[in-house]
Amino acid sequence: MRDIDGRAIAKALGAEVSADAESLRANGTTPTLAVVVPTDDDATAWYVRSIERTAGRVGVECRTVHLSEPTAADLTKRLDALSADDAVHGIICQTPLPAGISLSEVGEHIAVAKDVDGANPASLGRLAAGLDTFAPATAAAVAEILRRESVPLKGKRAVIIGRSMVVGKPAAMLLLAEHATVTVCHSRTEDLPAVCAEADVLVAAVGRAAMVTADYVKPGATVIDVGTNPTDDGGLVGDVDAASVAARAGALTPVPGGVGPVTTMLLMRHTVTAAARCSLNA
Ligand code: NAP
Repeated sequence: MRDIDGRAIAKALGAEVSADAESLRANGTTPTLAVVVPTDDDATAWYVRSIERTAGRVGVECRTVHLSEPTAADLTKRLDALSADDAVHGIICQTPLPAGISLSEVGEHIAVAKDVDGANPASLGRLAAGLDTFAPATAAAVAEILRRESVPLKGKRAVIIGRSMVVGKPAAMLLLAEHATVTVCHSRTEDLPAVCAEADVLVAAVGRAAMVTADYVKPGATVIDVGTNPTDDGGLVGDVDAASVAARAGALTPVPGGVGPVTTMLLMRHTVTAAARCSLNA
């Protein structure tokens, strides 16, 4: 089994993004990403720092807006203001959200043109309709990795475990657009290992450490592990038991170092694309 190097893919993508950001800056537009952080959660703070570092490397300005225990009204007012701010090209809102506030409710206050992480339900609708839009970065990372690794999708069986708005559903639409035959599984799917074992491409987006074992994998399949499950010693493991699937899978994205770095870089790609569109319309 071959490990797919997400860091190398992110680096190649980063070189392209950086060149595009530089030419926008030369023409007077500084691509700018606003990161709204409505939580004091340590893991979120760590992730936001990694977004800031990646932004700095590729010439995207990152504006972090920290709100401590905001109400829904505080949060939506801030997102409305950022949506109306001509100097901001991309907006993301980090999770976890305060209790009682849903991502869809918040997402509706992110202008679709600036919705670089596909949080507005309207963005998902546009994706389903085949219209130009930003897919959630994690789902886009799944498709980007498969494209850069030249994994055949046309006519192939793709199985996705997970049906969330941020990963499973948009990933299904992106793979469908590549002419894969897509099955979406979830917690009520009967005989999950047998369904997964039909997949040429298996995407695990569940949030259960090492759930996917060799019996889920068709010999030679490409396995994309989206899961990020914290371990007791402060590390991360995926949804796939890499040691178990090693003898059957053709290729696997490791955790860490697989989907994660590509996701962060795609937030930059989307922000630079949004900035370029904005400068064309100016
Ligand atoms: P989520 O909203 O909790 O969705 C999990 C999905 O898995 C649900 O559809 C759920 O089914 C399904 N599921 C749960 N237990 C299952 C089981 N035993 N068998 C089959 N399906 C099961 O999670 P998410 O936001 O999509 O995230 C999924 C994973 O990806 C998490 O580990 C998350 O941390 C990770 N993630 C990684 C990145 C990255 O950049 N690498 C970004 C985002 C998320 P039901 O719908 O029936 O409940």
